[in-house]
Formats: sequence, structure tokens, C-alpha cells
Amino acid sequence: MSDLPEIVADLRERARYYASLTELGLPPRPPATHAPGPDESPAVTGADADAELKGIRELVGDCQRCKLAPGRRNIVFGQGNPNARLMFVGEAPGSDEDAQGLAFVGRAGQLLTDIIEKGLKMPRRDVFIANVLMCRPPENRNPEPDEIIACQPFLEQKIDTIRPAVIVGLGKFGAQWLMKTAEPISRLRGRVGDYKGIKVVPTYHPAFLLRTPSAKKEVWEDMKVVLRLLAD
Ligand code: URA
Repeated sequence: MSDLPEIVADLRERARYYASLTELGLPPRPPATHAPGPDESPAVTGADADAELKGIRELVGDCQRCKLAPGRRNIVFGQGNPNARLMFVGEAPGSDEDAQGLAFVGRAGQLLTDIIEKGLKMPRRDVFIANVLMCRPPENRNPEPDEIIACQPFLEQKIDTIRPAVIVGLGKFGAQWLMKTAEPISRLRGRVGDYKGIKVVPTYHPAFLLRTPSAKKEVWEDMKVVLRLLAD
């Protein structure tokens, strides 16, 4: 019962986040609030996860579910190890990602690779990298609520399939989506969140680090938290 005020505050914050996504009057999908219990579908393992991700990609198809479809070159589904213990969720594809159909392959992607390989000392192919949006917004503008809502079921399914131990939320959009909050990234980082029982570490987006290299020390602090959580 002593947790009640925290639970109420959390529900309020989730309601604020979903309200911020429904400015356009679109119906929100109800947030899933718990990890699957023993009677629910078991975590997908081994080759199953790969097959399941391929199935999700098929469901995405030649997606026309939001207004970004006509302007994109490629859908960026996300890539990496289907059995990753560590996952990253960024914002949306940029120009290089749109051209190649792969997440984080431009300059910000190179910095993310350095964070993973030089900082965390793991091969990038061992993690899974996805974005809140699978299509590039025009001129790299911010994702809009209807676009986030259209893409949401697929990101949920990817995470449900991979079931990593830790997810890093990159920047405002990745972190807010995972933590179901409208709080700014500057206030989210430094805390460990929860997404359906999976630990969430919010941190600055690599594109922000390219503009503000002094923030790299905070990201390194966050990566130390990731390493500690992965070792638990
Ligand atoms: N920024 C993102 O958020 N995602 C990408 O894939 C590339 C740049």
C-alpha cells in the first residue's frame, strides 16, 4: 500500500503522455502495464524470435498507415540480434537510414556504434536497434502523434518478441515512448524506467551529442548503469 502514491503518480504521468499523443483526436491504444505472467505467452526464444520478427515485418508490409508513407524511400524496421539482451530505441530514420532501410547508419549511427563497441565493449550486431517511427519524417522534423500511434503496435511487438533485459531510450522520443511520460529527457535521464518489466535507461540522442559533445560524459554515466543492469 505504501507504493500507492507512486502508482497514482505513474498513472497520472502515463495519462499525460497519452493525452499528449492524442492532440489530433486519435484513439490511444491502452498502455500495456505488466510483463506476461506464467499463464501468458512465454518469451520467444532462439530461432523463434528471428521468425517472429520476420512475421512482424510481413505485417508491416508496404505500410500506408500514416502520412509519412508517400515520402519515404524505405521502411526502416530495425535490425540486430533477435535475441539481444540490450536494445536501443531511437526517434525516426534520417536521410541515410531512409536510403539504406537500416537504423542508425548515418553520423549519429556511427556515434551510436562507438557508444556500443568502444563504451559498452560489445559488437553492435549483438544488440537490436529500432526507432519509434519506421519512416523518415520530411526534413527530419519531429515525429507527430498520429505517426507515433500508427507505428506503436509494431514497436510493441518487436520488444515483446526480443524481450531484452535492458532498453536504452535515445533522446526525448525514444525515452518518452518507453516510459510513457511527457517529461523532458533532461529530467528522465539518470533514472531507470520500466517497460513491461524491462529496465529502461533513458539517455541523450547521439545526434544531440554530435551538437553537444560535452554531454558525452552523462551518456557514459548512463552506459555504466546499462552495464550494471546487464550484469544483474
Ligand atoms: N536518428 C534516429 O533516431 N534514428 C535513426 O535511425 C537515425 C538517426
